[in-house]
Amino acid sequence: MSKWVYSFGAGHNEGRADMRNLLGGKGANLAEMASIGLPVPPGFTITTELCTEFYKNNRHYPEDLDGQVRAALARIEEAVGRKFGDAHRPLLVSVRSGARVSMPGMMDTVLNLGLNDETVLGLAKSSGDERFAWDSYRRFIQMFGSVVLGVDHHRFEEIIESVKMDAGVVEDTALSPAHWKRVVEEYKEMVEQEIAKPFPQAPGDQLWAAIGAVFGSWMNPRANTYRRLHDIPADWGTAVNVQAMVFGNIGNDCATGVFFTRDPSTGENMFYGEFLVNAQGEDVVAGIRTPQPLSKSAAKAGEVSMEDALPEAYAELCRVRETLERHYHDMQDIEFTVQQNKLYMLQTRTGKRTAAASLRIAVDMAQSELITRKEAIMRVNAQSLDQLLHPTLDPKAKRTLFSKGLPASPGAASGAVVFSADDAEMRAAKGDAVILVRIETSPEDIHGMHAARGILTTRGGMTSHAAVVARGMGRACVAGAGGISVDYGARTLSAGGKTIRGGEIITIDGATGEIFVGAVATVEPTMSGDFATLMGWADEVRRMKVRTNAETPLDAETARKFGAEGIGLCRTEHMFFAPERIGAVRQMIMANDEHGRRAALEKLLPFQRRDFVDLFRIMAGLPVTIRLLDPPLHEFLPHGEQEIADVAEALGQDVESMRRRAAELAEANPMLGHRGCRLGISYPEIYEMQTRAIVEGALEIAAETGEPVVPEIMIPLVGTRRELEITRTQVDRVAREVLEKAGKTLEYTVGTMIELPRAALTADRIAEVADFFSFGTNDLTQTTFGLSRDDAGKFLPHYVEAGILPKDPFVSLDIEGVGALVRIATEKGRATRPGIKLGICGEHGGDPASIAFCEEVGLDYVSCSPYRVPVARLAAAQAAIGAASDRTA
Ligand code: PEP
Ligand code: MG
Repeated sequence: MSKWVYSFGAGHNEGRADMRNLLGGKGANLAEMASIGLPVPPGFTITTELCTEFYKNNRHYPEDLDGQVRAALARIEEAVGRKFGDAHRPLLVSVRSGARVSMPGMMDTVLNLGLNDETVLGLAKSSGDERFAWDSYRRFIQMFGSVVLGVDHHRFEEIIESVKMDAGVVEDTALSPAHWKRVVEEYKEMVEQEIAKPFPQAPGDQLWAAIGAVFGSWMNPRANTYRRLHDIPADWGTAVNVQAMVFGNIGNDCATGVFFTRDPSTGENMFYGEFLVNAQGEDVVAGIRTPQPLSKSAAKAGEVSMEDALPEAYAELCRVRETLERHYHDMQDIEFTVQQNKLYMLQTRTGKRTAAASLRIAVDMAQSELITRKEAIMRVNAQSLDQLLHPTLDPKAKRTLFSKGLPASPGAASGAVVFSADDAEMRAAKGDAVILVRIETSPEDIHGMHAARGILTTRGGMTSHAAVVARGMGRACVAGAGGISVDYGARTLSAGGKTIRGGEIITIDGATGEIFVGAVATVEPTMSGDFATLMGWADEVRRMKVRTNAETPLDAETARKFGAEGIGLCRTEHMFFAPERIGAVRQMIMANDEHGRRAALEKLLPFQRRDFVDLFRIMAGLPVTIRLLDPPLHEFLPHGEQEIADVAEALGQDVESMRRRAAELAEANPMLGHRGCRLGISYPEIYEMQTRAIVEGALEIAAETGEPVVPEIMIPLVGTRRELEITRTQVDRVAREVLEKAGKTLEYTVGTMIELPRAALTADRIAEVADFFSFGTNDLTQTTFGLSRDDAGKFLPHYVEAGILPKDPFVSLDIEGVGALVRIATEKGRATRPGIKLGICGEHGGDPASIAFCEEVGLDYVSCSPYRVPVARLAAAQAAIGAASDRTA
C-alpha cells in the first residue's frame, strides 16, 4: 500500500521541511513548524505523488486514498473535539494547494469547508455568534463557488452589493446575521442557476470536490504558462493541504495577517507585514479594508498597530519570527491567524524578495553568523544582480508628479501605458517599453507583467499579487495607487484632474511609489555597501577571472568600475565606424590594389593607435585581448550615390568602377564568407596596420604609466592550423620590426578565437601555433547548429516555447552540442600545450549557467559585456563553490 496522506499538528507530525518534493512547500513547512513546537492547527497533506498518479490513471484516484483521508480526518476531529458534518460541533477545514515551488497559477484557498444549511446552525450555537456563522457560510459558498465550481466572482459581489444597498450600509461589517442569511440564500440560488444543480451540502462531497479542483488546477492553462516561464516540470505535481479552521473573525480579539521576517523590498531587518482585526484570510489581500501595521513604530497617524490592539499575540508573533529565522536560516513569508488572542501559524515559506533585499539579507545573515559567507554567495541569484545595476531616477531630472502609490518593487521604468497583459506582450514584442496599468493583477496577467518594464496598480497592498510577482520578476512596481482611477473602456487613467491615455508615456519609481507624466532621466547605480561586500567574498572564492568585452573607453571604464580584470575581447571593427574614419575605411576596401589599401590604412593608423592607447590606459597592468578585423567587408561599403562619389574622388577613380567594385564585394552568405582571418590572409596589410597600432600603443602606455598592459593579439575565424600560422607570422614580424625600431621590449601573445567546429576538432594542431584560445561561442553556436545568428529570431522562440530546445542557445550555451566542442578543444589544446590560456568571449560569458559549464571544463576566464561583469563574478564564485561541493560529495 502506498502512503498518500501525511498528518501534521497535535503531536503527530509525519512530514519535515526537507520533504518538500513529496509534500509541497506548504505541507512540508506546516509539518516542520508543528514539529518545532509552533502553534499549527492540525491537518494533513495529500502528496504530490498522488497528483502524478491521478494524471497517470486518467484522473482517477487510487483505491486506498479514501481510507487514508478518512483516518487523517478522524485524527483532526479528535484533536479539536469537533466532527466533520456534525450538526452541533462541526469541524470546518481549509483546503489549499501546495506545489514544491509556490505557483500563483493554481487553485486558491477554500476556507470554512464543511458548512451547510445544518452545520451553520451548529456553528452559530457553538460559537455563540450567529453573525459569524452566517458570514462564514457565505464566504465558503463564495470561495467554493468561484474556485471549485467556476462561478464568476462578480456574481457574488453583485449580490452583496444589492443586500448592502437595501440595508443602507456601506461596510460589510455593518450587515446583520439576517442580512448574511439572505446573502447565503441568494448565493445558493444563483449558484444553482449557474451550475444547474444545487450547491453541494454533504461535507464529504465538498471535500472531494475541493481536492479534485486542486489537482485539476495543476494542468490549467495559467499553471502551464507559469511552469513554462519558470522551467517547472509538469511531473512535479501539487500537494493538497487540508487543515482545521481557526477563525480570525469571531470578534475584536481575533485577527488575521501576513508578514515577512524582513523587508522584502530593501532587506532591512524589520517586522514587515499587515493585519486586520476581526477578519478572515483573504480580507488582507483583497483590498476591501485597509490592513494595519504590525508594530507601533510602523504605525502612522490614525492607524492601530497589532502591538497596540493585540499585545499578547503580538509578543508571541515576535518570538515566532525569531524562531523561524533561526530555524530556516532565511527570510520567511508568513500567514497567521489570531483566534481569541491565541496565535496560530498557517504558513511559512522562504520569502520572495527583490535583488537588493536578497543581497542585503544574505550579507546581514552572514555577518551575524546565521549563515556562512559561502551560503551568502549561493543565496543571491547572480542573474538578478542585473537589476541592481540598472539606473534609478536622476534626482536632478525635471519631473511632473502624476500620483503616488506604494513602493512595491524598486527600480525606475518609463514606458507607454497599456491596460491589458495581452497588449503589454504585443507591444513589448515590437520592441516598445511599456508600463502595464491595472486596477489589480491576477495570475492571468503574468505574461504581460513579464513583458512590461513596470507595473502600476490602483488597488492592493505591499503583499498584493502585483507586488509579490513584480519583486520576484525584478520589475519595477507601484501598487495600490488609490488616487488614480482607471477606465479600461476609455483606456485612460486619471488623477487630480489630469488624464493620461493609453500609449502615452509615464515613469514609475518603484522605490518611492511615485508616478510621473512622461519620461524622467535616470542615473547609474553605485557599487558600494552590501554589493561590494558580497562581491569581495565572491572574489575570494572564485577561480576564474572575469574580463569584459569592450572597445570604447566608456565601456572599459564601466567594466573596471564593476571589477573587470582586463579585456577579453576588443572588436576592432567597431572602431571603424566613427564618422572621421569611415571614409578612410571605405577607401581601403574599395581600393583596387595593395598600394591604394596601404594609403588608406596609413590614414587609419593614428586613429587605431589612439583607440588602443585609451583602452590600455584604463586597463593599465591588465591583459587586453585585441581581435584583429573580423566582419565581412560589405558591412563598410558606401551606401547611396553621394558616398560612392566621395570614395571615388578620394581614390581618383570613376563612379562606375566604384559601383562595379561594390558589386564584386557583395556576398550571398557574408557570415560564412570573406571575413575573419580570411581577410587578413587576402589583405595582410590590414592586420599589419593593426599590429603596429597595438604594439606602438602598448609602448606608449608602458612609458606613460610604468604599468605595461599585456596585449593578446587574437586572430578571428580560424579553421585550420595553417591560417593561424600565416597570420601569426605576419603579426610577429611587424611586432619585431616596431620593437626593434623603438629599441624596446614588450610582452605580448598571439592566439585565436575557437569559433568554428573545425577549429575545435583540430585544436591540438592549432595549439601548436597559438598562445591562447578564446571561445567565440556566438559563431560556434551559429556554425554548430547551422543556425543564422541574424535570422534565428524568426523561429527560435517557437522552438523554445514548444520545448524543442530547452533555452535559446545564443543566450545559454548548448552544453550538449556546442559545449561538447568546447570540451574537445579544451582537452586537445591542453594536450599540445599544457598551460594554454583558455577563455570565452561569446555572449555566454555573462550567463550563469554557461559560466558554471566554463568552470567545469576549467577555463581560465570568462569575458562579458560591462554590465554583466558583476553577474559573472558572482556566478563564477557560485560555480567554484558548486564544483568544490561536487568534489567532496
Ligand atoms: C563570437 O563569435 O562568439 C564572438 C565573440 O565574436 P563575434 O560575436 O564578434 O562574432
Ligand atoms: Mg565571432
